[in-house]
Amino acid sequence: MSPPPPLIPDDTTIQVGLIGAGIQQSRSPRIHMDEAASLGLNYRYLLLDLDLKHEGAAALPQLLEQAERAGFAGVNVTYPCKQLVVPLLDQVSEQARRLNAVNTVVFKNGKREGHNTDWWGFAESFRRELPDASLARVVLVGAGGAGAAVAYAALQLGAKTVLIHDSDPARVAALLARLGPLFPGSCVLKGGELAADLRTADGLIHATPVGMAKSPGLAVPAASIQPPLWVADVVYFPLETQLLALARARGCRVLQGGGMAVLQAARALALFTGRTPDLQRMLARFPHQGPVSS
Ligand code: NAD
Repeated sequence: MSPPPPLIPDDTTIQVGLIGAGIQQSRSPRIHMDEAASLGLNYRYLLLDLDLKHEGAAALPQLLEQAERAGFAGVNVTYPCKQLVVPLLDQVSEQARRLNAVNTVVFKNGKREGHNTDWWGFAESFRRELPDASLARVVLVGAGGAGAAVAYAALQLGAKTVLIHDSDPARVAALLARLGPLFPGSCVLKGGELAADLRTADGLIHATPVGMAKSPGLAVPAASIQPPLWVADVVYFPLETQLLALARARGCRVLQGGGMAVLQAARALALFTGRTPDLQRMLARFPHQGPVSS
C-alpha cells in the first residue's frame, strides 16, 4: 500500500482544494487533475469537506488558513461558502464583488484574491454552443447561487430582458435588487405567470435542482417547451436532464450544464497555475469523468 501523501507538498507540486459541504461526489478533482496532467503539471486537488468538521461552515476561516499555510496555490469554494468567504479575502475581482460570490480563491504573495469563474463558465459555454441565439427576452427559473451567476452571464452577453422566477419570492427579490442596478440598460424583472412568460420568451435558463438524478422532474410546464425557445440547463448530473431531453425531442436548441461546470473549472485552473488549459480537450473529456470516489 502506498503511504499517505504529505500535507505539505514538495516544491514542484501545485496543490489546490475544494472547500464546501456535500462535496464527496464532486467532479472537480478529476476535471482539474486530468487537465493538469495533460499540461505536464504535478497537481493535486484535495477535498476539504465541511461535513467532516463538527462546526460546519464555521470551519471555513480555519480551513482557508490551513490551506494557505500549507502552501496551496488556491482553493475553490462551493456551497455554503461562496458568500461567507468574501470578508475573509484581501482582494475581490470586480465580477465577484458585483455578484457577491466567490468560487475561486488564489493565494498569492501573502494575499488572498477572490474570483468568480461560474458566470464566465456559463457565458463561454453559451457563446460556444448557442452563438446566434437571441437574448432579447430570457426566462430564468431558479434564483439561487447558480441562478445569480447565469443571470449575470446572460446580462453580460447582452440580454435585454430577464424575467426571474423562483418558488421562493425572497430569492427573486434579492436577485432583482442585486442585478437591476448593475445593468441599467436592461430590464431585470420579477416573472409573472411562467407559461405566459415562456410563450413570449426567446430562451429559458433553468437553474433549480429539479432534474438532478436525486430529484428528477421538471420545474416548468412541459407544454411551454416549444421551438423557437432555446433551453439551457445548469444541472449537469445527469448531463441530459428530463428538461433537455424534452426540449431536444420537440426541436428546441439546447445547452447542457456540463459546459459551465468544465469551463468554470478551466478558468480556476488557469488562475491557480498561470497556465492556459485546453478548453476543447476539457469539454470532450467531461462526459467520461465520474466523481473521484466512484
Ligand atoms: P440554490 O439552492 O442556491 O438555488 C436553487 C433555487 O431554486 C432556490 O432559490 C430554490 O428556491 C429554487 N427552486 C427549487 N425548486 C424550484 C422549483 N420547482 N421552481 C422554482 N424554483 C425552485 O442551488 P444552486 O447552487 O443555485 O444549484 C442549483 C442547481 O444548479 C443544482 O442542480 C446545481 O448542481 C447546479 N449547478 C450547476 C453548476 C454548473 O457549473 N453547471 C454550477 C452550480 C450549480
